[in-house]
Amino acid sequence: MKIGFIGLGNMGAPMAANLVAAGHEVVGFDTVARPEGLPMADHAADAAAGADVVITMLPSGPILRTVAMQIVPVMETGTVFLDCSTVDVESARAVADQAGAAGVMCLDAPVSGGIGGAAAGTLTFMVGGSDAAFEIASPLFEIMGQKAVHCGPSGNGQAAKICNNMILGATMIATCEAFALADKLGLERQAMFDVVSTSSGYSWSMNAYCPAPGIGPTSPADNDYKPGFASELMLKDLRLSQQAAEGADADTPMGRMARDIYAQFVEGEGRTGLDFSALLPWFARRGRM
Ligand code: NAD
Repeated sequence: MKIGFIGLGNMGAPMAANLVAAGHEVVGFDTVARPEGLPMADHAADAAAGADVVITMLPSGPILRTVAMQIVPVMETGTVFLDCSTVDVESARAVADQAGAAGVMCLDAPVSGGIGGAAAGTLTFMVGGSDAAFEIASPLFEIMGQKAVHCGPSGNGQAAKICNNMILGATMIATCEAFALADKLGLERQAMFDVVSTSSGYSWSMNAYCPAPGIGPTSPADNDYKPGFASELMLKDLRLSQQAAEGADADTPMGRMARDIYAQFVEGEGRTGLDFSALLPWFARRGRM
């Protein structure tokens, strides 16, 4: 396929490299990044013109909307605009409407799996959009990822992503605060893990990504809390979840509290560049507020 790839940062660059390695003809565009081994266009529209599929991997909804204004007018009818960024549901649906009006099929396909998954081609895609567009993009999902779930019409991929990460943020906080309480009650962390990981308090945060160093499978806690999945990205996703909840009039008290706790950690305390499980040493040092 002829592919335009716009947004070649931490995630986009390795995803584009995997498409090139699989034999696709990829032209990139980024306002800053210049990854090696990828032909680059001077403008977003030049990367999109003549492409069968244009992939975007951008930081935010407003930037996605700006790029959509630049590329949709030059995309041909029946081609696919595949946005893999994590953005607000409203922007995803607005861009899909704009593309649809121009005869371009649009998919919102945010990912989980992080930079490691992007490099290894093992991302999970959560996809919103038509069956026809999903079918065209499926061979690309297979190269860049290990799983793609079609979640329904446009915006539903973003909806799935922020609901998943709202659960993840809340369970990570609950896991970290429970370890901090256990410490103060004199309960060994290993014993706590052995009980909870096989009892009703288990979760991915405890069992697969344990925030306590030296306990459970290897995780960012064993590497001085280097991300992994950075706290600031978790805060971004929790903010998107609360923006969506406000728009949909959904009561999400745990999600709101999780957002506030990560905002305090990242912005109140200035702790950036740390994995989202680094709440454990923070809680462990604190007394009751
Ligand atoms: P990044 O900041 O490393 O990359 C974004 C790239 O977009 C940058 O290179 C930037 O120069 C480029 N860009 C910005 N404005 C542009 C424009 N107008 N035109 C063209 N290029 C432009 O971010 P990332 O870590 O690669 O994340 C990309 C997306 O993936 C985000 O939405 C993020 O939430 C999501 N995501 C990231 C991770 C992760 O672990 N990093 C995991 C899952 C999802």
